Amino acid sequence: MERHWKTIIEPFKIKSVEPLGFTREDERERVLKDAGYNVFNIPADKVLVDFLTDSGTSAMSSEQWACIMRGDESYAGARSFFIFEKAVRDLTGYRHILPVHQGRAAERILMSVVGGPGKTVLSNSHFDTTRANVEASGANAIDLPVPEALHFDTPGPFKGDMDLKALEAKIRELGAKNIPMVIMTLTNNSLGGQPVSMRNLREVAEICKHYKIPLILDVARFAENAYMIKQREAGYSKRSPREIAKEIFSYGDGCMMSAKKDALVNIGGFLALNDPEWVRGAREVLILGEGFPTYGGLAGRDLEAMARGLEEVLDEDYLAYRIRSVEYLGDGLRKAGVPIVEPPGGHAVYVNAKKFLPHIPPSLFPGQALVCELYRIAGIRAVEIGSLMFGEGSNGNFKPARMELVRLAIPRRVYTQSHIDFVIEVFAEIAKRKDLIRGLRIIESSPRLRHFTARLVPEAA
Ligand SMILES: *Cc1c(COP(=O)(O)O)cnc(C)c1O
Repeated sequence: MERHWKTIIEPFKIKSVEPLGFTREDERERVLKDAGYNVFNIPADKVLVDFLTDSGTSAMSSEQWACIMRGDESYAGARSFFIFEKAVRDLTGYRHILPVHQGRAAERILMSVVGGPGKTVLSNSHFDTTRANVEASGANAIDLPVPEALHFDTPGPFKGDMDLKALEAKIRELGAKNIPMVIMTLTNNSLGGQPVSMRNLREVAEICKHYKIPLILDVARFAENAYMIKQREAGYSKRSPREIAKEIFSYGDGCMMSAKKDALVNIGGFLALNDPEWVRGAREVLILGEGFPTYGGLAGRDLEAMARGLEEVLDEDYLAYRIRSVEYLGDGLRKAGVPIVEPPGGHAVYVNAKKFLPHIPPSLFPGQALVCELYRIAGIRAVEIGSLMFGEGSNGNFKPARMELVRLAIPRRVYTQSHIDFVIEVFAEIAKRKDLIRGLRIIESSPRLRHFTARLVPEAA
């Protein structure tokens, strides 16, 4: 009998290190002020622990770095392309594999082929760039998550699922011919990084098949989703993450991937399709905007590192560590009295700032106030997902978002348990004197995607 230890350790040792940006509190106060209380404007070397995003921030393995050295940089037909193509084809089972520089390029290409005015795309939830690309083509994007996805305090195993009744009702209402595709996002990034169950995916696929609508999977975090199926769904505990992932892909007619997440690389993505008509159109757009179809806006070395990353991410020890370490942060915050979206997601923990700072109204951005406090007292960088990101206007014409969250996204293989323990300690300290945290006012902003560029000031005490 194999002994089972309780402590799940980082399943790697560290070969190359990078110093963290230690700063003093008075320096951080100055940095915050200069940044207009917007952490997107803070230079990364002034950040101690960076939880801004898990996108493109992974640590590559020594094998991936070896791939970088081996990369074949031939313009057409590079060896690295064939290695990449085989890795993606073996995993997904889709026939045509088109590399792109990152996920949104795949979205733009697909939408310029089959989007357009009068069309509607349905999804469990569109990621924000996916929605932007659907809308930029002239089409509509509608999210149909299960209702429990919005009940933040109540845990559930598969809060990333699609609302099947709503899906069928929408298809009947709009007419199948006006729906070029249904997109399932795994995991559901916009709603807490929650997984989709195999059962829900299978049922969505059946509905799509019945109405002859292609089902496209947005698989930025397919491995995290596969592992949570293994843990939570009956019948999967004995199956390997790769087998589960293959079953996931079998229900789609194609997929788009931002390789900056579960392919463990710093840049890259792909579009994988079966339909030869779609592929013909996509190749044309790819050549116009990205490059020749055997490199798609990337270097040969990037393709090879991606191929390797797709294999490493399905390693069961890696996934056990990955999912557990995010949960561990969630456990620590809960114990410190910090309300989080339950359960923790696969790549991030979301703090419910509305509940944590009830004295700050949405119009004074409680999420952003917490983000600034995390930076001010400890140099931790997180991101607001609330009225600064999704609300409209300020002061008189203010319209709040439906939630005020702070996302702590965990880069893959980058931080150790002591970094996470430190973050938990900081939250416990903030919880003690949270009533003193003040809201913020916008003094400068642009009409679109304002959270990237807005400047704010703290409310007078
Ligand atoms: C990040 C992401 C994208 C977009 O990918 P980029 O590589 O950032 O362009 C699309 N969908 C999901 C679910 C994502 O998380």
